[in-house]
Amino acid sequence: MKALIDGFLKFQSEAFPQRSDLFKHLATTQHPGTLFITCSDSRVVPELLTQQEPGEMFVVRNAGNIVPSYSPHPGGVSATVEYAVAVLGVTDIVICGHSDCGAMTAVAKCKCMDHLPAVAGWLQHAESAKVINESRSHASEAAKVSSMVRENVIAQLANIQTHPSVRLAQEKGLLSLHGWVYDIETGSVDALDADHRSFKPLAKHPDTCAVQSRIGKAAA
Ligand SMILES: [Zn+2]
Repeated sequence: MKALIDGFLKFQSEAFPQRSDLFKHLATTQHPGTLFITCSDSRVVPELLTQQEPGEMFVVRNAGNIVPSYSPHPGGVSATVEYAVAVLGVTDIVICGHSDCGAMTAVAKCKCMDHLPAVAGWLQHAESAKVINESRSHASEAAKVSSMVRENVIAQLANIQTHPSVRLAQEKGLLSLHGWVYDIETGSVDALDADHRSFKPLAKHPDTCAVQSRIGKAAA
């Protein structure tokens, strides 16, 4: 805890004064443009990798960057998605997986999770990605995990489109969806293209989008 408290003291004495006008503005309002959904992994830091300031991104984090499909008993992720889309009016949603993901490694390698019943239950939301990944041949165990991370991003993009708030915003042409995979070692991001057949380096293809808004499609 000492490192955290020392960090807070540094924030209070250095980072906060530098942004005091911003925090004063944000004290009673927020208008984030993006809902960013990623893994809880300590090595993935959304605001660092996208260089966003406070107030600019609404963030959901959980093991495996999972979005359960909409159901009669929606949970915390569903409520957060609904609030971001229907109340805050975000125009973009990014679902961001990452290299060396422990959750996706467990799924890809069918690790025994008898001692982790909550994790095992949660990761069933990645089952459609798992069966697709299992049906393919992979050059190595590492390649299988990497493929699982990507298939999971595709599956969660499908899941999020079962949410009424997301479908309505898409219907109105107000929302685009993005699938990213962040590589921890290189700091690079691969983005899913619109036909969901490949991930491309975002640095070389900055316009890559998984599901464009209708307005975006019409303009393209
Ligand atoms: Zn992870």
